[in-house]
Amino acid sequence: MRIFITGGAGFIGSHLCDYFLARDHQVIAMDNFITGSPDNIAHLANDSRFEFIRHDVSNYINVAGPVDAVLHFASPASPKSYLDFPIQTLKVGALGTHNALGVARVKGARFLLASTSEVYGDPLVHPQREDYWGNVNPVGPRGVYDEAKRFAEALTLAYQREHGMETRIVRIFNTYGPRNALDDGRVVPNFIGQALRGEPLTVHGDGSQTRSFTYVSDLVEGIARLLMSDEKLPVNIGNPKEMTIKTFAERINAITGNKAGIIYTERPVDDPTRRNPDITKARTILGWEPKVSLDAGLEETIAYFTERMKKA
Ligand code: NAD
Ligand code: UDP
Repeated sequence: MRIFITGGAGFIGSHLCDYFLARDHQVIAMDNFITGSPDNIAHLANDSRFEFIRHDVSNYINVAGPVDAVLHFASPASPKSYLDFPIQTLKVGALGTHNALGVARVKGARFLLASTSEVYGDPLVHPQREDYWGNVNPVGPRGVYDEAKRFAEALTLAYQREHGMETRIVRIFNTYGPRNALDDGRVVPNFIGQALRGEPLTVHGDGSQTRSFTYVSDLVEGIARLLMSDEKLPVNIGNPKEMTIKTFAERINAITGNKAGIIYTERPVDDPTRRNPDITKARTILGWEPKVSLDAGLEETIAYFTERMKKA
């Protein structure tokens, strides 16, 4: 296949490039580096099956030649990034998704949208199943991301219904691993960076809010299976092992031997209180479930950040 990946120089996008190149597909990645980095794809520079185009996908997209699949991953993704770039986030979710769907339509390609657990907002139902409609504040600071992704899902389904296109939607829950940007404010890079510098970990609020963490190789495998499946409605991909942020901070301090402890800081507005995926659908339809334990995933990630911080 010839696969077009928007956001291909980002954390997840670059792992998708690696995954498909390793299976002998061709990859065209597009990115404007608003939150991604050329470093994430530098190792692919001499691979003749890999092509990179620097472009903002919120503007008309031009891709020469045939395309079999479009994976739309371009978007600021961390709360800090989408608060820094609120309008670009709305534009890439709306205009960028429209353009990426347009590429898929003209090429007769399959389309896969990177959606998010944020479409459930601050959920009132636990764990979150795909048929839960969510609890989103459209005018709060996170609304720029949540509503952009909800619009992107609606547009994807509209293209499927109106044009008979093959579309897929993955709702990604908190994912971590090598190439997570150290400074994008997400809890995994923040805590690991702080621990490696011997600083106290900044837990927001009292740390009783929950998340679960998916290692990137598990996520990418789930995405590839969804792409090849017949499932047209959204599928959660995430790790169902829920934990409090305080417990997670204590774990990071224990693994890294950081003695600086924890400090409690202000909780961001509309920060979801509980988040945990119901992955029955992924298990049943895709035969997928996460394989990498938190400790194994953290070991890889800490090794990566240790190297990055030496170079910085
Ligand atoms: P990331 O910031 O590392 O990657 C996003 C990439 O998109 C970056 O390389 C960025 O430069 C690029 N981009 C953004 N706007 C663009 C535009 N207008 N034109 C071209 N490129 C643009 O973040 P990530 O974690 O790899 O996220 C990738 C996708 O997965 C996003 O769509 C995000 O919403 C989704 N997602 C990620 C997570 C997670 O836990 N990592 C969770 C839910 C959803
Ligand atoms: N968080 C924290 N300290 C940090 C960064 C994040 O306590 O330094 C919390 C944040 O408030 C949220 C959780 O960790 O409750 C996960 O935050 P992240 O930014 O990784 O992504 P989210 O799941 O909110 O999209």
